[in-house]
Amino acid sequence: MMRHFTIIGGGQSGLQLGIGLLKAGHKVRIVQNRTGEEIEKGKVLSSQCMFDQALQNERDLGINFWESECPTVDSINFTVPSPEVAGDKAIDWNGKLDKPAQSVDQRVKVPRWMKEFAKLGGEMVIHDASIEDLEAYQQESDLVIVAAGKGEIARMFERDAERSPFDRPQRALALTYVTGMEARPDHSAVSFNLIPTVGEYFTFPALSVTGPCDIMVFEGIPGGPMDCWKDVKGPEEHLAKSKWILDTFLPWEAERCKDVALTDDNGILAGAFPPTVRKPVGRLPSGAIVLGMADAVCLNDPITGQGSNNASKAAKCYLDAILAHGDKEFDEAFMVSTFEAYWAYAQFVVGWTNALLSPPPPHVLNIMRSAQAYPELAKRIANGFNDPRDFFPWFAVPEEADAYLAKLAA
Ligand SMILES: Cc1cc2nc3c(=O)[nH]c(=O)nc-3n(C[C@H](O)[C@H](O)[C@H](O)COP(=O)(O)OP(=O)(O)OC[C@H]3O[C@@H](n4cnc5c(N)ncnc54)[C@H](O)[C@@H]3O)c2cc1C
Repeated sequence: MMRHFTIIGGGQSGLQLGIGLLKAGHKVRIVQNRTGEEIEKGKVLSSQCMFDQALQNERDLGINFWESECPTVDSINFTVPSPEVAGDKAIDWNGKLDKPAQSVDQRVKVPRWMKEFAKLGGEMVIHDASIEDLEAYQQESDLVIVAAGKGEIARMFERDAERSPFDRPQRALALTYVTGMEARPDHSAVSFNLIPTVGEYFTFPALSVTGPCDIMVFEGIPGGPMDCWKDVKGPEEHLAKSKWILDTFLPWEAERCKDVALTDDNGILAGAFPPTVRKPVGRLPSGAIVLGMADAVCLNDPITGQGSNNASKAAKCYLDAILAHGDKEFDEAFMVSTFEAYWAYAQFVVGWTNALLSPPPPHVLNIMRSAQAYPELAKRIANGFNDPRDFFPWFAVPEEADAYLAKLAA
């Protein structure tokens, strides 16, 4: 039976689900508050590094248009600068990914997917949807899904205090998209640097509107020296501030950046938001209900680079649940069980990500240090980015960590 869906928000999750539903023979409308051209010509939105499982969902739908063009990310490299000797590293290891990751600038991906969605017969409405609009869409559709990311409208879903340990931003975030960064000597990587009490910096190759580039991601602990973006004016100051951080804290990264330039004046972003999990069922004033998906109801700090991966996995999980539901009503029980099926996976991502936002407990420090001695451990941590369920329980429970490290030592 052909059914009608309305999706609010055409980002990673909304477009991926919309295209999946169209390919399964359904009618889909996506309501998007900006045109493809506005997105392409606007500011960067994310660093969107995606690992193999998430990329596979795109391949399965035939929307992996940049696979051959986009540089690959082949490993995770983890570094902690020495607290005693400036310019020295206290920890430094590299773990190879079993399969590469890739990052396609959402300014490239989203407009192209919007075109694909329309080509497949989807209805693309350019409009900033309000609660009143949702009432109308709900009348006209079998199911309304809100995939509006960090958009205001997501506040219609009640915050789930039990699943949200933080009520304020945990990092001051910034992105800087550059060309001219020196490649790493061996293979490409998410080069992840953890500066205790200051914050994190990671960088990796990507594909942007101007072609291949490298993305710099800054995660500054609030009130610290990397929480430094408020007074930065304009793209050149933003680039200069980025270089200042590297010069000050990470000389080996500064070394790679002697000749960098911005990809374009919009290749910059700064902001902050509290990681928040919400209840998945949104009730409209009329009593009608809508279902939340991805960032709208499960928003993580970018420190572990999981948001787009989560969005891809949520879209896949929701697509499977909708198709398995046949011609039954999309009632509250369906909405709750669909989100909980996703949460069965996402809870591990949220737990791991939130753990990295707090100062590391001794057993985590021990794991991160030991990975330098045990390549097998380095590889396991790296591949955990593809599926963070593998971090549990050994990353979370001190006794489990000790037991696992003892096993590696033997
Ligand atoms: C600094 C930073 C770095 C990041 N780095 C990574 C990374 O390396 N790896 C990773 O996996 N993830 C990363 N992410 C997260 C990732 O970008 C998001 O989690 C992902 O895009 C979420 O997808 P989504 O579909 O939920 O929402 P989005 O992709 O945000 O899409 C939501 C869409 O809805 C639209 N919208 C909002 N409100 C309305 C409305 N009322 N009406 C109509 N349309 C509306 C928006 O304009 C947007 O187009 C990062 C995020 C940030 C901020």
